[in-house]
Amino acid sequence: MIQLPIHIDYSGKVVVITGAGGLICGAMARAFAQSGAKVAALDLNEDAVKALAAELKAEGFVCEGYRANVLDPEALEAVHQAVLRNLGACDILVNGAGGNNPKATTDNEYQHEAKEGGKSFFDLQPDGVDFVFKLNFQGTLLPTQTFAKDMVEKKAGCILNVSSMNAYTPLTKIPAYSAAKAGISNFTQWLATHFAGTGIRCNAIAPGFLVSAQNYKLLFNEDGTPTARSAKILNGTPMGRYLDAAELLGGTLFLCDDRSASAITGVVLPIDGGFAAYSGV
Ligand code: NAD
Repeated sequence: MIQLPIHIDYSGKVVVITGAGGLICGAMARAFAQSGAKVAALDLNEDAVKALAAELKAEGFVCEGYRANVLDPEALEAVHQAVLRNLGACDILVNGAGGNNPKATTDNEYQHEAKEGGKSFFDLQPDGVDFVFKLNFQGTLLPTQTFAKDMVEKKAGCILNVSSMNAYTPLTKIPAYSAAKAGISNFTQWLATHFAGTGIRCNAIAPGFLVSAQNYKLLFNEDGTPTARSAKILNGTPMGRYLDAAELLGGTLFLCDDRSASAITGVVLPIDGGFAAYSGV
């Protein structure tokens, strides 16, 4: 059990969450389940979502884990049919699967500091850039095509995308991931407009910086002290600390609730310890 920041009754709602095998969306899956929802936890990592579902079921909540590649429309439709059979039609979709790729990352922040033999802007690999755009953008569009059909039929529903701080101003070293997340913020507004007449709302959260298994080595030296990049992040975050996944749950549960957020569509909510507000001076 986690301590929920707000209590909203999601009983009877079917919530589909992609990337639920990961840090942020695993916490979201748990939060929705603890709030009474029937949760479909989707991830490429089948073991992770099966383990999450087993844990939640053992605690008396409703959750099913499904292996799903957000880039494979046929596989998504097969999971959609399984969700319809096991839990019912989708009321809320959280598009959480996403991430970066080393092939789309430069070694140096600035070209004038690029070192011989390092990976500069000129060494970025087209397949790495494609991977990042596909995973983040198509990985949001395709599950929306699959699951929003249920919402159109119900004339109600909610889509929550996961953007990032790099969507507002790009972070050094990660041009493709930054541009792809800017695409997610933009697409959130597009979807909100496109579906407004159908009763479906679409919003996003833009998390600040969390420490995950994936980025730990980029953020901390072996002795536990922050790396230079980590120091920059913390200096750029007025609250001066990393966020906990649980701190994203209040905004998530609020935005997805038709009563609390009935007129809120097309917004990207920063949950960032003040990062987006701070000029650095
Ligand atoms: P994570 O790596 O813990 O979780 C991402 C999950 O997505 C993983 O379980 C992975 O298996 C899954 N996934 C990857 N490719 C997939 C695919 N093709 N199909 C289905 N599932 C796939 O990362 P996280 O930190 O929990 O990130 C979740 C979301 O939040 C991502 O969209 C990420 O870009 C975004 N985000 C993270 C941070 C952060 O600091 N961690 C900040 C801002 C935004």
